[in-house]
Amino acid sequence: MGRIQVLADSVARKIAAGEVIERPMSVVKELVENSLDAAARHVVVEIEHGGRTRIAVTDDGEGIAREDVPVAFEPHATSKIRTDDDLLHIATLGFRGEALPSIAAVSDVELWTCRRGEAVGTHFRLHGGAVVAREDVGTAVGCRIEVRDLFSTTPARRKFLKAPATEAGHVVQLIGRLALARPEVGFALRQDGRDTLSLPPDSRRARIRRVLGAEIDGQLRPVTVDGAVRVSGFASHPSFSAANARGVLFFVNGRWVRDRLLQHALLAAYATLIPHGRHPAAVLFLDLAPDAVDVNVHPSKLEVRFRDAQTVHEAVRRAVREAMRASMAAPPAPEWRAAEATAPYADAPPPAYGAAPGRLRLVDAAAATALPFAAGGVFSSLRVVGQVFDGYLVCEGDGEIVLIDQHAAHERVAFERLRAARAAGRVETQAMLVPQPVETAAGDAELLGAAGEELAGCGLEIEPFGERSVLVRAVPALLPVGSIVPLVRAIAADLAHAERSAALEARTDGLLATIACHSVVRVGQRLSEVEMRALLAAMDSIDRDASCPHGRPVARRIARGELERRFGR
Ligand code: ADP
Ligand code: MG
Repeated sequence: MGRIQVLADSVARKIAAGEVIERPMSVVKELVENSLDAAARHVVVEIEHGGRTRIAVTDDGEGIAREDVPVAFEPHATSKIRTDDDLLHIATLGFRGEALPSIAAVSDVELWTCRRGEAVGTHFRLHGGAVVAREDVGTAVGCRIEVRDLFSTTPARRKFLKAPATEAGHVVQLIGRLALARPEVGFALRQDGRDTLSLPPDSRRARIRRVLGAEIDGQLRPVTVDGAVRVSGFASHPSFSAANARGVLFFVNGRWVRDRLLQHALLAAYATLIPHGRHPAAVLFLDLAPDAVDVNVHPSKLEVRFRDAQTVHEAVRRAVREAMRASMAAPPAPEWRAAEATAPYADAPPPAYGAAPGRLRLVDAAAATALPFAAGGVFSSLRVVGQVFDGYLVCEGDGEIVLIDQHAAHERVAFERLRAARAAGRVETQAMLVPQPVETAAGDAELLGAAGEELAGCGLEIEPFGERSVLVRAVPALLPVGSIVPLVRAIAADLAHAERSAALEARTDGLLATIACHSVVRVGQRLSEVEMRALLAAMDSIDRDASCPHGRPVARRIARGELERRFGR
């Protein structure tokens, strides 16, 4: 008998049933989970039109034996469990034996596979759920499954699919999560024939950095506690907090899950450390005996049930709390004060006016750039009296009052640094290993694509991604991640506007000014003494041209004599 068998009715009935194929991402999830269960070392995912027209997953795992191939497509056929007792000790990602038949029911499927140790492979093809080809072929060990025309036979469901860029975004997020769970496995993604993601086998930490981006990674501190429930991974230093829980990921026995209990335990660990209503970033892995967790509670296996919820809650809370205690004992490095961030692949809304993203960056971003601070410069020698209207610095200089527009000043600093870096050919960028799709107005994608080289020189790597969207691959390092979408739109507007302008240099300066504007502290943010001093020092480090790149003045002086005149002295 083959390895894959149809489950006895009595077992099949105990399996949490429900719709598993909702959208292209669900197909990719089931196929890649099968690859991982087959001990693949490398998995390549290809999608076209967001997965609507074609999805292919290729792995170098164990493969499927010849006689097993047709069985794999029967309902409740699996090699992973046999009896209902096995349901209590699930160690694989799949176990329901439902994915392949469900996929074949809503699309055309083609499979090439060769079982490790066998000489001949199999080519198998289904159309409308019926077998149309089965033949011996020479093919590499492993499995390649191609899924075409998803939901072609179920137009009602096809209607619910979103724009290709949106569906592709879901796939990208999914691969990010699977990749976090299995850093030792290499993952690659091709979208419409272009390689958009490549994650070689890596350490856990390096994988986190590549998937979540350097900004979030910089906030993370290690967490490890052993016991019946092993908790490991990383959680953000308490100086960081975000408006939502997008930077929080939990994995239970290698499976990404959504779980209220775990969220609650995490927030309990941060109680009093971060403001109420805010969220940390965390990537936490829980490992516990397979029989201590029931994964058979949700059709897509996105939720689990713990046998001893209280113990799990306490283990997570204690582990994170301990880690925070340890990391707070050490003085925070400057970058810990960096602004709030969102996961690079979270489709974050633009920051509200006056909300956090640009905040505090002038401290760390300024310190991080190559340009040295001029010690004892004109601005640094000012005495800071204070800040008014959350937007202006009031300083005392030699015989005068100096008023500084904090946004204009910071913008000027950012602009000058970008310009100097660009001239030197080294604008510091942050590569997004999970490129972010951004929807644009018709025509803008083309405009952005045509300016690709010029934008790359400014630290912004963008390429067209369909007619109405672009893929952002890298952004200038000083840009807060949440600003990417508004920045791309503003740049598109710049390009549309500047098209007729002759001077390339002026046009490039305009682009740098737009980047600077999206990178800096806004009016309406209260600054600490340290931040005000950092801003003044930064102003000394640039060519002092006393106007922001948009031409507004940065500083205004009121001479002592003028003040005295006003008071009739
Ligand atoms: P399940 O994963 O729940 O067992 P599926 O319908 O996803 O059910 O797959 C059915 C069976 O086909 C699996 O149990 C496995 O034996 C086999 N299979 C599917 N995909 C692969 C793969 N990529 N490599 C090796 N075997 C596979
Ligand atoms: Mg499966």
